[in-house]
Amino acid sequence: MQVTSMHFKERAHVKLNDERLQGNLKQMQGKFVGKRRAAIVELDDFEGTRDAGKSIRNRALDNLDVWLELFEKNATARGATVLFAETPAEINSLVLEIAAKHGVRKIIKSKSMVSEESALDHAIEAAGLKVVETDLGEYILQINDYEPPSHIIGPALHKSKEEVAQLFHKAHGTPLKSGIDELCLEARGVLRQHYLTADMGISGGNFFVAESGSVVLVTNEGNATLTTTLPKVHVAISGIEKIVPTLEDVATLMRLLPRSATGQSISNYVDVLTGSKGEGEVHGAEHMYFIVVDCGRTGVLASDVREALRCIRCGACMNHCPVYQNVGGHSYGWVYPGPIGSILTPMYVGLEQAQDLPAASTFCNQCGVVCPVKIPLPDLQRKLREKAFEQGLRPWYEHAGLRIWSWVAQRPALYAMFSTVGVRILKMMGGRDGLIHHLPLAGGWTDGRDMRAPPGRTFRELYRRQRGTHA
Ligand code: SF4
Repeated sequence: MQVTSMHFKERAHVKLNDERLQGNLKQMQGKFVGKRRAAIVELDDFEGTRDAGKSIRNRALDNLDVWLELFEKNATARGATVLFAETPAEINSLVLEIAAKHGVRKIIKSKSMVSEESALDHAIEAAGLKVVETDLGEYILQINDYEPPSHIIGPALHKSKEEVAQLFHKAHGTPLKSGIDELCLEARGVLRQHYLTADMGISGGNFFVAESGSVVLVTNEGNATLTTTLPKVHVAISGIEKIVPTLEDVATLMRLLPRSATGQSISNYVDVLTGSKGEGEVHGAEHMYFIVVDCGRTGVLASDVREALRCIRCGACMNHCPVYQNVGGHSYGWVYPGPIGSILTPMYVGLEQAQDLPAASTFCNQCGVVCPVKIPLPDLQRKLREKAFEQGLRPWYEHAGLRIWSWVAQRPALYAMFSTVGVRILKMMGGRDGLIHHLPLAGGWTDGRDMRAPPGRTFRELYRRQRGTHA
């Protein structure tokens, strides 16, 4: 997938002025938030479960090489083939080699964010094969000329029902429908034919289980079940960090994942697939492959933002992020949007390509509070901001401004004098309504909103006065 994260600011500006998108985002806002809030109180000890989830993910990451070897051994013993891809290009070539080996002409896919990293669908089509996305959101985007996903669990959440109806009408040549049920039935009818005629199914993997060599897939539509069991070949693609040691660990993480993602106590479908179809078994693929992907993950593991690899892709951080809620997922310019995307994208594609993403945060820490595996997202964003600064990627005036601020802040008397004068000037700029409509040298603050003028006293002055009162 093409990286356009370096244009975050411009894209966000466009999205903020897109009335239709803003309407769709507003409709979505709060839906997930409210459902999650209701779902987590069902658990006696949600905080304790979050701690358990965090330590399971840390245990996996601390000895990743050991668990990966165990996974490979156990999956191979159950008849699967385990392959490793270091780069996005390797993912695509491995898939195409498997397809060629089994004479595959048509491929169906359930949702896989990792395959978005390598633009797998385009590679499959360029090789002359047919590929059909079966996750409803991904399917909607595919028929809209491969529009990129805007959310990690709801790729087409930015689209309204009316927009989807138009797309179906155009792509399927059917009468225009208006109800969500009717649209779902239409999609089901179209996709059923593809399930029955595909030679290969590609899935992602919510978890790869080391002790059993299984892949765990969590969906609400049941499309992953059909994708992985009807075609003769199944390829599961996921990142190295998706390893968990045991099935019991999966059970704990499953108490967190659906609740944090969609506010469900359990998703409609949870598939645990182990090995290819054995003798006497009726369902399942005859040939099963795992593609275990690095694509920058070992770099993250060795870095000071390694905690980001604990992510179980629930999407809660973006559902609660005031920035994401306003600019939408496409502004982030690559596969992963929102707070987790603002860390993973610079780490996977290079900080110089995505340096504005860690800055796309108000540091309100909503994301850190809701993350089911306790990733300190604002801390990691701050680390990447520092890195961008150290690497000289930030503009000269930011460097100069911080240097001046740092010099003044180390001289308390001077700092007090400047802040007193500054606060008085800002108060005067406020005018009658108490609002500053334009801030010289910092126009970005007031481009899209007014700034409230300070009441005219500094914190030090107020503190001194309060202390005096209470003395
Ligand atoms: S960072 Fe946390 S909240 Fe965000 S998607 Fe990952 S697990 Fe969910």
